[in-house]
Amino acid sequence: MGNEIEHKIVRIKEKKIYKEKFCFLTTENRFLSNPLPGQFIHIRIESVFLRRPFSIAEFSSKTMSIFFQLKGKGTSSLSQKNRGENIDVIGPVGNSFPYERFKENILVVAGGIGIAPMIFLSSELLKTKKKFSFFHGAQNKNSLLNFFLPEGISPVIISTDDGSKGKKGKITDILEDYLKKEKVDVIFASGPYFMLKKTAEISTRFNIPCYVSMENRMFCGTGVCQGCVIETKDGFQKVCTDGPVFDAEQIRWKDIPYA
Ligand SMILES: Cc1cc2nc3c(=O)[nH]c(=O)nc-3n(C[C@H](O)[C@H](O)[C@H](O)COP(=O)(O)OP(=O)(O)OC[C@H]3O[C@@H](n4cnc5c(N)ncnc54)[C@H](O)[C@@H]3O)c2cc1C
Repeated sequence: MGNEIEHKIVRIKEKKIYKEKFCFLTTENRFLSNPLPGQFIHIRIESVFLRRPFSIAEFSSKTMSIFFQLKGKGTSSLSQKNRGENIDVIGPVGNSFPYERFKENILVVAGGIGIAPMIFLSSELLKTKKKFSFFHGAQNKNSLLNFFLPEGISPVIISTDDGSKGKKGKITDILEDYLKKEKVDVIFASGPYFMLKKTAEISTRFNIPCYVSMENRMFCGTGVCQGCVIETKDGFQKVCTDGPVFDAEQIRWKDIPYA
């Protein structure tokens, strides 16, 4: 793990709702340590019993943002909070994408709302001036979320399943074609499990290291309860504190639900 998990009450500074199903929420940042891309915060939401985990999408010395899709009761309640209200967060939790190890030819793949941690990762890659390409796929043009990416990323390759914007098809098919032509040293991926599994298969075939962010249902979020474990080649590992970022080669994909 990168740093100590802290418990803070933070004030909401800004909230934006997009297309009635996505929420970008910015709070004050009261963490003593700097979060790393891939880490998440675990938020207490009064209407639900368990905290809900959200990747850190943006971070500065004064602010921290999350970007989430409205799924059920927890995310719906959180999206109804307003500027000036407080929320109870623990974080930063988990490990991060090991981007420091790679100098260039980095490929970032984000499916749907899986783009959230990749916004933070892209900002860090831009700061370090590492060469990277960004792939973003969604079902249709209304579900594309690349307008949240920081400026200066090149190239950004977009695909939609129905072809309503960008290339037509699954982002993993576009990825496969790209790898036939371009040199890639590492892939970082976040998105639905079927997309991560496919990305892992492709990376194995092309012999490229690949790291994926796993989003299991989570309980304590601090490494105590073991409620979020996944099966890896090294046995069961906790998504909250051993992950959420895993070497894709290590995961036993056949045991992952929906993958
Ligand atoms: C480490 C981590 C980081 C995450 N980061 C983000 C993020 O940045 N943005 C974002 O939108 N979501 C993120 N998620 C998923 C998010 O936590 C869930 O969507 C949220 O907890 C759902 O809560 P709810 O009460 O609204 O829905 P619930 O009522 O609990 O569930 C509603 C529906 O959402 C599904 N769901 C619940 N939890 C998950 C999950 N973990 N993954 C996928 N589907 C789920 C359920 O199966 C159900 O179909 C992350 C999850 C993890 C584990």
